[in-house]
Amino acid sequence: MRTQWVWFGLALATACSKDAKPPAAVRPSVPPSTKVYDQIQRPDFNRWAVRENLPVYWSADRDQDGRPDPDEIVPLLFYPTRGQWTANGAFTPAFEQAYDRLVAAALAQPTGTPEELARQSAVGLDLDQGRATLVENDFSKLSADERAFVGHMLEVARQIDELYDLTTGSAALAPKVAADPASQSLFRRNRGPRCVAPATEKNPVCSAIPGNPRPIVDIYPPELQADDGFCAALEQRPDARTLLAPFVVVRAKGKTLEAVPYHLAYATQSGKIAAELETAAKRLPESESALVAYLTAAAAGFRTNDWQNADEAWAKMNAENSKWYVRVAPDETYWDPCAQKAGYHLTFALINQGSLAWQKKLVPVQQEMEQAIADAAGKPYKARTVTFHLPDFIDIVVNAGDDRDPLGATIGQSLPNWGPVANEGRGRTVAMSNLYGDPDSVEARKSQAASLLDATTMAHYATEADPGLLTTILHEACHNLGPAHEYKVAGKTDDAAFGGQIASVLEELKAQTAGLYLVEFARKKGLISDTLAKQAYVDSIAWAFGHIAQGMYTASGQRKAYSQLAAIQIGYFLEKGALRWDENALAANGTDKGAVIVDLDKLVPVIADLTKVVAGIKARGDKKGAEALLARYVDGKVVGLQTITERWLRAPKASFVYRDPSDSLGR
Ligand SMILES: [Zn+2]
Repeated sequence: MRTQWVWFGLALATACSKDAKPPAAVRPSVPPSTKVYDQIQRPDFNRWAVRENLPVYWSADRDQDGRPDPDEIVPLLFYPTRGQWTANGAFTPAFEQAYDRLVAAALAQPTGTPEELARQSAVGLDLDQGRATLVENDFSKLSADERAFVGHMLEVARQIDELYDLTTGSAALAPKVAADPASQSLFRRNRGPRCVAPATEKNPVCSAIPGNPRPIVDIYPPELQADDGFCAALEQRPDARTLLAPFVVVRAKGKTLEAVPYHLAYATQSGKIAAELETAAKRLPESESALVAYLTAAAAGFRTNDWQNADEAWAKMNAENSKWYVRVAPDETYWDPCAQKAGYHLTFALINQGSLAWQKKLVPVQQEMEQAIADAAGKPYKARTVTFHLPDFIDIVVNAGDDRDPLGATIGQSLPNWGPVANEGRGRTVAMSNLYGDPDSVEARKSQAASLLDATTMAHYATEADPGLLTTILHEACHNLGPAHEYKVAGKTDDAAFGGQIASVLEELKAQTAGLYLVEFARKKGLISDTLAKQAYVDSIAWAFGHIAQGMYTASGQRKAYSQLAAIQIGYFLEKGALRWDENALAANGTDKGAVIVDLDKLVPVIADLTKVVAGIKARGDKKGAEALLARYVDGKVVGLQTITERWLRAPKASFVYRDPSDSLGR
């Protein structure tokens, strides 16, 4: 349960008139507000802004005076209204009203029937389990045409949202949502009436709509959905393949069912999206020919339901031939109650050039890296000729449709799911590199790390993205190095040698451990500094804590690969003395007693040892060795999993909100 967020102290002070803001350089047409905004602290401001469904976000209290300044207030996208909170560097009257509304809401006592009070209280609790977390980008260096392109893509995002909400059945329920702002906000954030947070998702009264009606998706006939087993019934029909194809809806026609292609079922919406994509493409410079080709093919996809051509054009795009990452299509099936139909989404992002620079540094030494890991693995593995297939790192601008989750966000994705591009391994993998980089998330992770690590170790904890980016790249690189999934020993691949679940734990453990092994390799070669190497080690230990906190097994008893690899690493490092748990040491936060102390000098050879152990197990197909590692560190008592979990889970989940860039785009 992560409900501590609800009880952040609300600081109410009486207004005082000193410290009025200095006059703005350019006088706005409306006199600037002279109000002193000191009645609500930033966490509560943002929490109540969500509850009141207001598109406003206080990004940081940079001068720490407990008051928002105009450059700290951000307007948000994907709300029913738009906010103009500042003008010419000063607050607008609209902001003053919004501020007063948040303060009043924080003080108000809810009224209504006991049932309604219970519902509203649950709705508020569901909202509070997410901490509004900002996604933003700097568009100041874009040309006028590029800004226009972004503007058109934001319109595509709006249209994709509309279409997605139609398919999920949310649009049909919108008129029934209770009038109170929290219910309206829940419906907006959760993409429907249901509660989604851990403490409230199973509460039967928790809904934006009194009575908690179940949404009826638009992709199957409503009368079919009255039966809980309708998915299984569809799967058993002789025409199941046709009806359950990913890009068609099922419609009732008299007594029979028929498959209607998406582009016909949603012709009006699809046509508008296609036109907008083509308009967006027209604003792109010649250097963006790959993206123009994709947008044009995607537009055709919306008009004809031919997604193969769009996938081909999409697969030709990469971090070097476009500044942008765009994926607009029906793709994932998680949203469909039958998990068959592709959900409409738009991922619109900037390619993160920082990752490209890393790739260029590492590609020239890829063969040497392969040799180093082959040496660690030992016989019978032999170094092979390798090429890196690193993910593109992307900075999200907006997630629309099926992409925008109420809590958390997708941080990595491989697409497409169907067709020749997928089947022939020509798809693309991306990692979302700008999520969780906002000051609140950075601060939350730092305080999580500081609750477990001692002060001397925390001195090497960096809040910049570089250490995490480096270890992620090395991790992904190592999936292509040493014995990987397709490597065979005694005629067996890893799935056959170890069983699928253990094989995937081992492959992730190899990637993460060998990745850390290559940190020292890169440092010795002068590719990274001593400082960055130390930061990468400490960051990866914090990363491991975070995964340990997610638990070792899923609800259905499946091994969680990242969690288990993290437990093995931390356990091994502890046993070999590279990490030490000192019961009497104070954690770096100064309050938690008992802390992990990292000996960075010892850690380097211990990582090399673990690389030998893991790569060796994979090289020899040593199932007993694998099971011994798992029994000792995952299911044994070497690692204080409980303490790590308890301290790490104190922070609430991020609920991403998106900066409305209209001002900087001149819209
Ligand atoms: Zn991996």
